[in-house]
Amino acid sequence: MGINPASTKTKVGEIARVCIYCGSSNRLLLDHFIPKSITKSDRFTVQACHACNFSKRNQHPKLWYFRHFSFKSEWNSILADVGLTESEIDAWMTPPPEQCFLRTKLPELMKSRGLDQKTLAGETGLSPTTVGKLYRSHFDRIDNHTVTTLCKYFGLRKLDDLIEIIWEEDDIEGRQV
Ligand SMILES: [Zn+2]
Repeated sequence: MGINPASTKTKVGEIARVCIYCGSSNRLLLDHFIPKSITKSDRFTVQACHACNFSKRNQHPKLWYFRHFSFKSEWNSILADVGLTESEIDAWMTPPPEQCFLRTKLPELMKSRGLDQKTLAGETGLSPTTVGKLYRSHFDRIDNHTVTTLCKYFGLRKLDDLIEIIWEEDDIEGRQV
């Protein structure tokens, strides 16, 4: 992975003899440049000494490197060896939020027309229970008929005028364990 022909560290078919980070040849190990807990694979492995590997653990590689080494000019050659750009690293290190739920816009739509739940149910033929659940966004499923009835009733052209997806950002720092 990430073999740079110009590199003396990881040429094809050659075993790297020095730590990609500090240049030490002491107790070399395979280091997951992007933590394995994130890639769930052995992608982006590099040779690193035990000390660097142990110190870096699951940290953002750039933040860790810049905290530990004064020879920051080496960073670009490390990137070339690994075969990643900085934005690719950031994309890996910031997993997309996983918590989300669907929210209906019924409260706003009904308010704009001065409708209560009972009136909406009566005028659309939907059951008051269904309307109530959608109003509070407490639903596990929503069927074709309900969606099209509401879109027709409110004159909505796009699904996201009726339903939106809400993403909840996790504490990303807290997840890099
Ligand atoms: Zn090292």
